[in-house]
Amino acid sequence: MKIIKNISLKKYTTIKIGGKAKIIYFPETHNEIKDLGPIIQKKDTLILGNGSNIAFKDKGYDGDLVCFKKLRKSLSLIGTGNIYASAGVSCARFAKFAYRNEIPGFEFLNGIPGTIGGALRMNAGAFGHEAWDNVAYVTIVNKKGELVKLHRSKFDFSYRKVSMKKILAFIDVYFKINKKTKFKPGLLEKYNKDRKNSQPINQWSSGCIFKNPKKNISASALIDDLGGEKRKYGGIYISNKHCNYFINDGSGSCSDLEKLINIIKKEIYKKHKINLEKEICIY
Ligand SMILES: Cc1cc2nc3c(=O)[nH]c(=O)nc-3n(C[C@H](O)[C@H](O)[C@H](O)COP(=O)(O)OP(=O)(O)OC[C@H]3O[C@@H](n4cnc5c(N)ncnc54)[C@H](O)[C@@H]3O)c2cc1C
Repeated sequence: MKIIKNISLKKYTTIKIGGKAKIIYFPETHNEIKDLGPIIQKKDTLILGNGSNIAFKDKGYDGDLVCFKKLRKSLSLIGTGNIYASAGVSCARFAKFAYRNEIPGFEFLNGIPGTIGGALRMNAGAFGHEAWDNVAYVTIVNKKGELVKLHRSKFDFSYRKVSMKKILAFIDVYFKINKKTKFKPGLLEKYNKDRKNSQPINQWSSGCIFKNPKKNISASALIDDLGGEKRKYGGIYISNKHCNYFINDGSGSCSDLEKLINIIKKEIYKKHKINLEKEICIY
């Protein structure tokens, strides 16, 4: 198993900020994950996917990191009823696989630059769909460090949230193929186009910084409504293409990001009495 020590975490997040990691483990198989059980069980150990929803503090991360990006990328059809994916498979690869096989319901995952494991953890979503919509079973590492396969009914999930009370990590997933939904040719391309038009996808960001406070109130619209010139703190600025995306101009730090987050939170609260909740995970 690859192990890296004393490495900048900027390389491991899409917003490219953060200090150093003491150690990152890269398991490739279920057995290696089992071997890492005692490490994964440590309170301050963190699982890392593609780092597309994470920022690390400038002082770095003290605990161990276990990154699932090198997990053997298994992706397959199981009969006609399920698609299996290991946690390290990228959402884009998964979406394209389903699309090629004319399986509907996963097109939205294409533009999400994370892993399937990260998508399960965040209940990532777009275009009215969420990662947990079609989950049948998930293999997890439980609090005892054991790998167990559980039915979806054992999980508690909601908008961008999954209860982790009994879970340390998501290892793989069986999605059920919804035979009642019709496959729509061109849908994946349409989503791509919509995304390109409305989001700064090629800049250094972590996607949406805040969760939408309500179904019909977007955090982006609230931030937009604050008005003002290009909002910036240090090297982090608010995208004018999508106000819920905070961009690193290359010189940004985690402290800049946290300051800008706090400023916006306070202003939104003052104006609308709404307490925005962070979607980005800052460690
Ligand atoms: C340009 C851009 C567009 C985006 N668009 C969307 C979007 O449309 N919808 C959306 O919901 N999000 C979006 N995001 C945010 C992000 O891509 C998703 O939240 C994604 O699911 C995170 O996956 P990841 O593998 O990068 O997880 P990471 O960022 O590495 O981790 C996120 C959290 O999940 C935990 N985690 C990761 N993998 C596992 C695992 N296997 N088991 C347990 N915990 C784990 C981490 O500890 C961390 O707490 C976007 C981000 C960017 C940069």
